Amino acid sequence: MDYYWPGGHPCCVAGCFDLKFSRYRIPVHNENIKKIWLERINNPALFKLPNKQLHNIRVCGLHFLPVCKRQTRLYATSLPTINLPGFSDEPNITNSFFKDEVMMRTSQKLLKVTTASCDVLFIYLC
Ligand SMILES: [Zn+2]
Repeated sequence: MDYYWPGGHPCCVAGCFDLKFSRYRIPVHNENIKKIWLERINNPALFKLPNKQLHNIRVCGLHFLPVCKRQTRLYATSLPTINLPGFSDEPNITNSFFKDEVMMRTSQKLLKVTTASCDVLFIYLC
């Protein structure tokens, strides 16, 4: 059976056959963020892939809280939290974003952020 996948790609999360949400690439630009995505997706086939191939793999928007997205784009530090084989915590704003020393400040900003200030946040992250 042929499917029409949004953006031409299926979602790489096992058991997810979403046909509606936007697709997002695995973030290979940051090894730490990539590692968390792969652990949460927990698809054994992906761990072996080199970045070049991994970059073509897509995750659907079903696995992200709305706060991770701005229209159809995903913030650079967003992490998947929903319906994942390798992650069962309650999704919240803290576990939806990658934090390092710099991003801790971002996180504090995020807690205060309102819809109206999302544009500022987007510029700051990207
Ligand atoms: Zn999916």
